[in-house]
Amino acid sequence: MHIGTAGIPIGCKNCSSVDALKFLKDMGLNALELEFVRGVKMGEETAKKIKNRADLLGVKISSHAPYYINLASDDPNKLERSLEHIKKSLYITNLAGGHITAIHMGYYQNLGKEETYKRMKNALKSLGEFIEQYNIKTKMGPETAGKLSQFGRLDELLRLMEEVEYVEPVFDIAHLHATREFDFTKKQSYYDFFNKTNLDHYHFHFSEINYGEKGERNHLNVGETMVPNYKYFLDVVKELGIDATIILETPDLEVSAKKLLDYWNTL
Ligand SMILES: [Zn+2]
Repeated sequence: MHIGTAGIPIGCKNCSSVDALKFLKDMGLNALELEFVRGVKMGEETAKKIKNRADLLGVKISSHAPYYINLASDDPNKLERSLEHIKKSLYITNLAGGHITAIHMGYYQNLGKEETYKRMKNALKSLGEFIEQYNIKTKMGPETAGKLSQFGRLDELLRLMEEVEYVEPVFDIAHLHATREFDFTKKQSYYDFFNKTNLDHYHFHFSEINYGEKGERNHLNVGETMVPNYKYFLDVVKELGIDATIILETPDLEVSAKKLLDYWNTL
C-alpha cells in the first residue's frame, strides 16, 4: 500500500519536491504526486534527483498533468498545446521514476459522447510514438472526471485502456461519487467497483467531496462528512488484497493522508 499527497505537504515549509520525500517518509507516508497542474516547470536535473531520493526512501512517484488540456478541442492549436503538455509531463515524470501521469482529458462540449470518445482516443493514440521514441515507462492516466461536462466516466476510461496502448485510468473515488456512478457511502459499492475494473494495480485519488447536480463542487478533508467513506474503501482494499496507491487531494493533504494511514494500520 502506498499513501501520499498531491504535491508538497502543507506542513513542509519552503520545501522542494525533493525535500518533501523525506518529510512524507518521516510521517510514515510513501507516495508523492508531482503537481504540474499550472505547467511543467520542473527541469531534468530535479526530476533525476527526485528519482534517486524516492528510490532510496521507497516513495512512489506519480504526477498530474496541467489543467490546460482539452483533447477534444476543435481548435488544432489548442489540441497541439494539449498534447505538448502531456508529452512534457510524461517525459519529466519518467525521469523522476513516476509510474503514471494523471490527465484531465477535456470536455464533451456539444460533440456527443461517441464523437468525444473518438477524439480522446485518437489524441492518446498519437502519443504512442513519442512514448516509444523516449522509452517512457510512465503510463498515461486519464482521470475519472468529477463534473458531468468533463469527459471521463468510468466506462469510457476502461474502454480507452482496452483500445489504446500505454493507458491506465486514474480512479478518483470522490469524482466517481460526485457523478453518481457509485454511491461510495456504501461498502457494497467498493466491491462493485473492484468487480467491474479488475486491475493488477490501482492509482487512486481520494478526498471527501461537496457536489451538486452537475457533479463536483469542491474537495473536502477526510473525516468531515465521510462522503465518500474512507473506512469502507480501505476495508475492501484490504479484504481483496488490492495493490493500490492512494493520493490525497484534500485541502489539508498530509493530515488526511495520515488519517488513512492510521486506519490502514489498524486493519
Ligand atoms: Zn485530477
